[in-house]
Amino acid sequence: MSNIHTTIHPDRPRLWTIPERQISAHAVAAKSNILTQRLIDISERFFDIRFATSLAAEDIVLTDAITKTNSKIKLFTLDTGRLHPETINLAKTVSDLYDIHIQTVAPSERDITAFIAEYGINGFYEGEAPKNACCAARKIKPLNAALLGADAWLSGQRREQSATRTTINFEEVDATRGITKFNPLFDWTEIDLWSYIKHQNLPIHPLHFKGYPSIGCEPCTRPVREGEDIRAGRWWWLHSNSKECGLHDNQLPISNE
Ligand code: SF4
Repeated sequence: MSNIHTTIHPDRPRLWTIPERQISAHAVAAKSNILTQRLIDISERFFDIRFATSLAAEDIVLTDAITKTNSKIKLFTLDTGRLHPETINLAKTVSDLYDIHIQTVAPSERDITAFIAEYGINGFYEGEAPKNACCAARKIKPLNAALLGADAWLSGQRREQSATRTTINFEEVDATRGITKFNPLFDWTEIDLWSYIKHQNLPIHPLHFKGYPSIGCEPCTRPVREGEDIRAGRWWWLHSNSKECGLHDNQLPISNE
């Protein structure tokens, strides 16, 4: 378990830091109870439910809540082949801590070879189309494979995370995969999130201490400055409309509860 602290050099631009401000223990308990009830409701309605964890803060909270509700929700993570070593290490830490299996899903060699042949290993820096092609090979196709046979899946998305996520709902239709998708933290603020983590003393991805509020693949993620959109460090060389990898496209809203 980690202690929360960050050190910023006075001559450098201030980076995003884990929020110091917290909601009360009583408020954390209330958020936790609502989250637990959401997970119970999902488990009662669906049989084969899967959760895609990236090991970022939101997904650690969901993992903690899933294990505490003794839920049948199964966990997997997408190992794109370009992750930070810290992410891979944290998957092992979380798996050991909760005594759970986190399935690792990898892209196909053939898809990676085809991408590299067309664009080069880091061709995603050349524009939106190659970035989308890389995300399709390393993330979207593996996600589709990981969700085959599932009735529903969960993500840790929150409305407050970025301009591209302000309209997400608790329950959505994933029209691409023909199943239901849930965002159990859709209405959580950053303060809610970190209050829960501190209160429950959860493991924290080491990059969250280095200015990374959002963590993806190593070559496509960098720290953000204080006050920036918290997904500004993702694909920073592209227009802000391209701050998603396509994993969460094609969801149709159903309701907020
Ligand atoms: S985030 Fe970057 S490295 Fe990862 S799949 Fe997308 S373009 Fe490729």
